[in-house]
Amino acid sequence: MSGIGEAEQYLLKQIRRGDEQAWERFVKRYRGRLLSFAQVKLRQRADAEDLVQDTFVAFVAGLVNCRGESSLETYLFTILRHKIINLYRSAHTRRTCLIQDVYKSLRTDDGGSDVYEYLASDEATASVYARRDERSDLLRQSLAEALGSLVDGYKKDPNFRDLEIVELLFYCQLANRDIAKIIDVNDKNIAVIKHRCIKQVRKHVARCSDLSGSDDEHFEDLLTQVWEAGRLSCPKRSTIGAYLLETLDEGWYDYVDFHINTLGCQFCRANLDDLKRQTTEDESQRIQARIMESTVGFLHKPR
Ligand SMILES: [Zn+2]
Repeated sequence: MSGIGEAEQYLLKQIRRGDEQAWERFVKRYRGRLLSFAQVKLRQRADAEDLVQDTFVAFVAGLVNCRGESSLETYLFTILRHKIINLYRSAHTRRTCLIQDVYKSLRTDDGGSDVYEYLASDEATASVYARRDERSDLLRQSLAEALGSLVDGYKKDPNFRDLEIVELLFYCQLANRDIAKIIDVNDKNIAVIKHRCIKQVRKHVARCSDLSGSDDEHFEDLLTQVWEAGRLSCPKRSTIGAYLLETLDEGWYDYVDFHINTLGCQFCRANLDDLKRQTTEDESQRIQARIMESTVGFLHKPR
């Protein structure tokens, strides 16, 4: 999944025109998963609700900045994560974080580095807010295509083992020997898979010549940013729903389970939690009303 689909484009257009019902549908569609995401990080339910509300306000007030490179869901998650990081900073608190965040901190482990500090600085470049030149946009686009076709290949003719390895390599930037501990493959084979993938990706983007001078480390950072922005391997929400109902076949079930519980993809975890919680409709109604109240004034009515 990457970029904005046609249905989302249309919804966005209606919202830009100030269509209140479209906005209401939009808030209803996304608030649950955002709330689940925020609640993992914040112990206080009230804090989580505040930040989700702020996220929708920021979204609707800054609609012009939505560049359409990520899905709307990813865009909202990005805004929310910034808000969570800011809250952490102002509170000077630390707490246990998700596996994926821990993996990220390993990469920058130069002694006592703060995971949230790191996330913040990493996102300063990865962020959808960042102003980037046309050339690097092209490169990212090309990388997203290359990685996307890699992932599609593993899914079409299912090879979930390699897909899991590739996720750990590029989505999490885990070292070969750490991957070997998680997946039952020796680290030399992992090195081979990694080498093959990087070669394939580099070949695909060869026409964007500004890669020629980039070292491997920089290249891998870029791959991770592109992977996360495009959510390249994330299962669809409907697939996560089927996982919850246990109607997936065994291969897919195990893969989704890996993606959510071993890899710890925080976006998909949030979706799963949201799907689980959908039964408590009353609660949802209250939050919906609250968000609508605070955001509707930002919609631009045509004059
Ligand atoms: Zn995911």
